[in-house]
Amino acid sequence: MVTNAVTVTQAPTIRILLTQPFSQEPGAEISTVAQGFLKVRMCAMVADNLLAMAQIVLIEDDVEIRRLVADALASQGHDVESAAVALDGLQLAVKGSPDLVVMDLGLPDLDGSELLRMIRAVSQVPIIVITARGADEVVVSTLDSGADDYLVKPFSVAQLEARVRALLRRGSASEPGDVIRVGELSIDPAAREATLEGVSLELSPKEFDLLRVLAERVGEVVSKRALMAEVWREPYGGAERTVDVHLSWLRNKLGETAQDPRYLRTVHGVGVKLVDPSR
Ligand code: CA
Repeated sequence: MVTNAVTVTQAPTIRILLTQPFSQEPGAEISTVAQGFLKVRMCAMVADNLLAMAQIVLIEDDVEIRRLVADALASQGHDVESAAVALDGLQLAVKGSPDLVVMDLGLPDLDGSELLRMIRAVSQVPIIVITARGADEVVVSTLDSGADDYLVKPFSVAQLEARVRALLRRGSASEPGDVIRVGELSIDPAAREATLEGVSLELSPKEFDLLRVLAERVGEVVSKRALMAEVWREPYGGAERTVDVHLSWLRNKLGETAQDPRYLRTVHGVGVKLVDPSR
């Protein structure tokens, strides 16, 4: 049973406590210090709440899972709009400009991977795929089609919530304008665009992520294992060849070779780093 594993966890409630000290003596003046303290507390609470609140589109045809996931996300303070079929979901995802999309792959009217590509064609909204199909090739093609993360059913709601938080954090961390510049290379994580000497680089999603991760740690050697974990979310070192292949594609697009490197420097046996070649 898929739904057995879905348990709704209790979200922490924000309470504003205006209790005893102020109600014991009706009409008593609240001291300036107490007023100041209250203002600070209330501002902090409002700020926390605003940060946590996101517009989320949920696309899932299974009534039970849809209800449980929607309730769980709503209990975290998010505003959730649900759709039971792909085309309704597409409408919500594209027209509503949500902060995040959570979608099932097995949908009645359209295959989820198709829907994923349709959303990706017009929007960079973070997408989490929830799927009963856990086979490696499905996961790989889902991520390659532009999903940011995935969960295989059955999953726990706590896990979903953690991934939602992580993606929302990532989204808010890279506001438009947070462009990373390394020499003549410029990387815009929010727009997912990279240019070299002002010319746009046609990078695949993985090549872009590889470049972004290296650019975020410019000058630092990043191990292939770490790249596997961050770009492919694959903590095992078994597929280091995947990193090598993507690095060579990226090198090619940057117009350099392993023999004559400029931006991408391999540190043998350790990893790779992105450097400013003019320094
Ligand atoms: Ca389904």
